[in-house]
Amino acid sequence: MIIKLVENRLVIHMTLSPTKLIWMNGKLVPWMKANTHVLTHTLHYGMGVFEGIRCYKTVSGPAVFRLKDHMLRMKKSADYAGMKLPYSVERLVKATKDTVKANRIEECYIRPIAYYGYGVMGLNPEGSEVDVAIAAWPWGTYLGEEGLKHGIRAKISKWTRIHESIMPPQAKVVANYANSILAKVDALKHGYDEAILLNMAGNIAEGPGENVFIVKDGKLLTPPISSGVLMGITRDSIIKIAKDEGISFEDKDISKKELYSADEAFFTGTAAEVTPIREVDGKKIGEGKRGPITEKLQSKFFSIIKGTEPRYKQWLDYVK
Ligand code: PMP
Repeated sequence: MIIKLVENRLVIHMTLSPTKLIWMNGKLVPWMKANTHVLTHTLHYGMGVFEGIRCYKTVSGPAVFRLKDHMLRMKKSADYAGMKLPYSVERLVKATKDTVKANRIEECYIRPIAYYGYGVMGLNPEGSEVDVAIAAWPWGTYLGEEGLKHGIRAKISKWTRIHESIMPPQAKVVANYANSILAKVDALKHGYDEAILLNMAGNIAEGPGENVFIVKDGKLLTPPISSGVLMGITRDSIIKIAKDEGISFEDKDISKKELYSADEAFFTGTAAEVTPIREVDGKKIGEGKRGPITEKLQSKFFSIIKGTEPRYKQWLDYVK
């Protein structure tokens, strides 16, 4: 991580910590040799699909969190994009574990990507090779350690989340993240830590790379998939944990007003994990700090990923 002064703002750059090898089209190649041509189709038009996965150091060795679910989602994203993945979900699962193992890292972020490669230009990608790469590198928490404890400050974005009639928000398509980047940078420029995007109906959709939850009168709420959000794997995990903990839950449309007047709010995501939101648009959420239900869910989530919760052991795929 590098902190730089840009236009009078302190900007945190999530710099890469290179590891040794990247899996590319079936082979492990040296990190600096995992290159692609400038006329790579996806680089120009954004039609590629990717995943963000974490491997955690557990009491029984490194384990990838919900690996198969991530690869199933990647397959679904490819289906939305009309892209045929040249590898099965099982092969991608094995390739991910091989990558982590080959790099001898215990805890890392994993980035699989499938993209139209070199050879075809023009919008129609038909006939193009689909290349697949999987990289893994150590990456700390996305919104900061302080953010995990004390919460972050979010801004309702001036950018609207893509509607399903424009791009499929349920898919991790590369181009969707141009919308996310606009929202993220706008929030940072206004002195906030993260953006929250509304959907076309004016309700809460999600963060640029996170799902949003609120707590009101002891009840956990999150926007439904129909509100145009990614089916987050952390979102799904938190819903299951909440049900197991006896916390009442509903997925329903949430207005901006409901968010402002929530008792608690938090983001979920592979990168952000479970990050409390202490303020939105300068208004305190609840007491302006991590709330008790957020803390309970967050602490359960962190013990699950450390491998100390036998009930959820099926979520950990050990890299042996
Ligand atoms: N929404 C968007 C737009 C995202 O990019 C992500 C990160 N993948 C999420 C939500 C959270 O999803 P997950 O918990 O699967 O990482």
